[in-house]
Amino acid sequence: MSTTKFDYIVIGAGSAGSVIANRLSNENHLSVLVLEAGPADTLPLIKIPGAFAFFMYSKKYNWSYEAEAVDDIRHGAPMFCPRGKTLGGSSAINAMVYIRGHKTDYDRWEQQGNAGWSYEHMLPYFKKSETNERGADDFHGGLGPLYVSDVRNDYPLNDRFLEGAHQAGFPLNNDFNGKDFEGAGYFQFTIQNGERCGVSKAFLKPASIRSNLQVECEAFVNKIIFKGKKAIGVEYKQGNKIFTVYAKKEIILCGGAFNSPQLLMLSGIGDKEELAEHNIPLVHELTGVGKNLQEHVDACVLVKSLKKDGFSVGPGGLMKMLPDVIKYYKSKTGKLANSITQSGGFLKSSPEVDVPDIQLHFVPLLFDDCGRDVKLLAGHGYSLHVCVLRPKSRGKLTLKSADPREPIRIDFNFLSDPDDAKVLVNGIRVARKILKSAAFDDYRGEEIHPGKDVESEDELLQKCKDRLGLVYHPVGTCKMGHDVTAVVDNELKVHGIESLRVVDASIMPDLVSGNTNAPIIAIAEKAADIILQEVIS
Ligand SMILES: Cc1cc2nc3c(=O)[nH]c(=O)nc-3n(C[C@H](O)[C@H](O)[C@H](O)COP(=O)(O)OP(=O)(O)OC[C@H]3O[C@@H](n4cnc5c(N)ncnc54)[C@H](O)[C@@H]3O)c2cc1C
Repeated sequence: MSTTKFDYIVIGAGSAGSVIANRLSNENHLSVLVLEAGPADTLPLIKIPGAFAFFMYSKKYNWSYEAEAVDDIRHGAPMFCPRGKTLGGSSAINAMVYIRGHKTDYDRWEQQGNAGWSYEHMLPYFKKSETNERGADDFHGGLGPLYVSDVRNDYPLNDRFLEGAHQAGFPLNNDFNGKDFEGAGYFQFTIQNGERCGVSKAFLKPASIRSNLQVECEAFVNKIIFKGKKAIGVEYKQGNKIFTVYAKKEIILCGGAFNSPQLLMLSGIGDKEELAEHNIPLVHELTGVGKNLQEHVDACVLVKSLKKDGFSVGPGGLMKMLPDVIKYYKSKTGKLANSITQSGGFLKSSPEVDVPDIQLHFVPLLFDDCGRDVKLLAGHGYSLHVCVLRPKSRGKLTLKSADPREPIRIDFNFLSDPDDAKVLVNGIRVARKILKSAAFDDYRGEEIHPGKDVESEDELLQKCKDRLGLVYHPVGTCKMGHDVTAVVDNELKVHGIESLRVVDASIMPDLVSGNTNAPIIAIAEKAADIILQEVIS
């Protein structure tokens, strides 16, 4: 296909963009162009679930953003914010946990005035996208492109975690995406036969053979072009050349929670005064662009292990991994065929809570700072991470410059709402209760963090801040809604603008109670249906 006019231009081939590209190009009379800033995903390491840490150091496949430093958080060090930059977007570098969230998350969106977004409306899209290895049922799909599988546990510590949760009085759960959400258990994963099943493999590759779909890699979109209030085209840079392409029907922005609002601002949609500061001509004022930033703020308990059957990057630990490397290359099994976290759960931080408000990720290694704390990783131990599922604090993104290559300023404003701090501290107490259970007796060494003598509310909170983390789930920066801060409507059309939609993590009005990949895929499935229904009618 050689043209500068397409029916649809999709910006970004991540979790949402790949789904949109697949579903729209399934109609062979529609031409679709996908522009992805990152390179193709041909690197074999992308397929290996256990290669997670590699991508935390990659500048080629990861945007590697840093949030604004805050004095009393991580001792003033900026927080690292990984984001995938290749075909598949963040699903190419994520931890592959398959979680949908709680049904009330979606019901809340609908109650906020977003008709059509309740759990009842979303469930068919979760099922449509999924093939669950356990088979189809009322909650799971059996025919979708995204393969979802059970964990092959290679770490005895995971079983101890489940035993410990049970001993501490928490229920166990065999399917967090089924009837019941609460409990501790093994997660399911987007892994197929020992290889990552990201959206590129599931949605984009199968569609790439279609003659009506063109995918351009290393195509960095600089801005969206408007005629009056209508989006008509896109300017992008590939190599040293600048290209302009035009959309006959629509432009669909799928750049993720940081890049989509940035691109809207660079193109003239945002807060009038902020754009004027950077001499960006205003196309349409929407003050909510970049606001309402939310992320799962995370803290952890780190414990030294008396046994050495977890994972470590110390010399002994790496030697012990060798048989697993061979095993993986021979049969796609063993530790490398698994995500970094295999078990966890959704629990209540206190008895007064109705719906679980913390998520636990258990990791059979000493894991902090996205696995970039190598000194810590070199020891033997285990970590229990706790995140606040529905934080009340709201952050914001602001432009540093009108240069599209300059990253946007990220201000999470973590724990600014005291309720978040309370949930986090109570969550750490829940985590400690599990780790202090008899199940861990023969593993338990010294508590490295927060530290055995740290008990008071204030001390615990400060310790949480010292190692504060995130779960890589930024959302909400082009929120769906109808109030003055909303950026898109319930059909994901940008308010006040013609022929432009945003479809990605940024449209969530508020965070879902869990990992965000599956919800974003379902959002994109729904968006594709809305778009195609308009084509037919
Ligand atoms: C390290 C990590 C671990 C995670 N673990 C999990 C997990 O285990 N389970 C889970 O459910 N979720 C997980 N997530 C979150 C989940 O993967 C993301 O929420 C989801 O993939 C985001 O989807 P998206 O479509 O909004 O954006 P993305 O998938 O990030 O896609 C955006 C795409 O747009 C491209 N792009 C951006 N700007 C431009 C531009 N100007 N021009 C062209 N292209 C552009 C990007 O390169 C990218 O490919 C994790 C995320 C990370 C980073």
